[in-house]
Amino acid sequence: MKEGRMKTKALNYVSEQVDRLGTETAKINEKLTRIDSQIEALMKKVGGNGNGGNGKPKPEVQMKHCTHCGELKPATVEYFSARSDSRDGLQSWCKECVKKYKSHFEQQAAPMKRCARCGELKPATSEFFSKGNCKDGLHSYCKACAKKISKEYNAKQREKKQRARLIAERDDVAAKLKAMRASLRALDSEIAQGG
Ligand SMILES: [Zn+2]
Ligand SMILES: [Zn+2]
Repeated sequence: MKEGRMKTKALNYVSEQVDRLGTETAKINEKLTRIDSQIEALMKKVGGNGNGGNGKPKPEVQMKHCTHCGELKPATVEYFSARSDSRDGLQSWCKECVKKYKSHFEQQAAPMKRCARCGELKPATSEFFSKGNCKDGLHSYCKACAKKISKEYNAKQREKKQRARLIAERDDVAAKLKAMRASLRALDSEIAQGG
C-alpha cells in the first residue's frame, strides 16, 4: 500500500515532466517555423537579382528635374549631391549623371575591367579588390559585388548556425520526451502488475 502511493507519486512526477517537455517541444517547433520563414524572407531579399534600387521615393518627398538627363527624381541627397551654394542645397545634375560623367573620364584614364558577376565595366584598379595570384592581380568580381557576396554569405552563415542550434535543441527535447514516455510506460505497467 505504501509502496503503491510512492509509485503513484513517481508517476505524477513523470506525467508532469512529460507535459512540460511536450509544451517545450511545441514551443521549439514554433520557434523553428518562425526561423524558417525568417530564412526564407532573407533568401528572397539577398537572392533577388542585385542592383535594383529598393529605395522607392515616398510620395510626400519633393521632386527635382536633373538638368542633364531630365529625369524627375526626389530632391534628396540620396539622388542629388549636396551643394551649399545652390538654392535648394543640391547639385543640378543627379548623382547618376555625375557618376556616369566621372566614370567616362576615369575610363579614359584607367584600364577597365568587366565584373564577372554584375557585368558592369569598371575602372580596373579602384573598383576591384586586388588579389595576388590572378592574371591581372585583381578579383574577377568588382568591389560592390565582393562586398555584397560576403555580406550575403555572413548573413546566411548566421542563419544557418541559428537554425542548427534550434534543431539540436529540438532533437534534444524530443529525446528527453521519448525517454520520459518510456519511463512513464514502465511505471504504468509496474503499477498495473500490482503495486
Ligand atoms: Zn540625371
Ligand atoms: Zn560587380
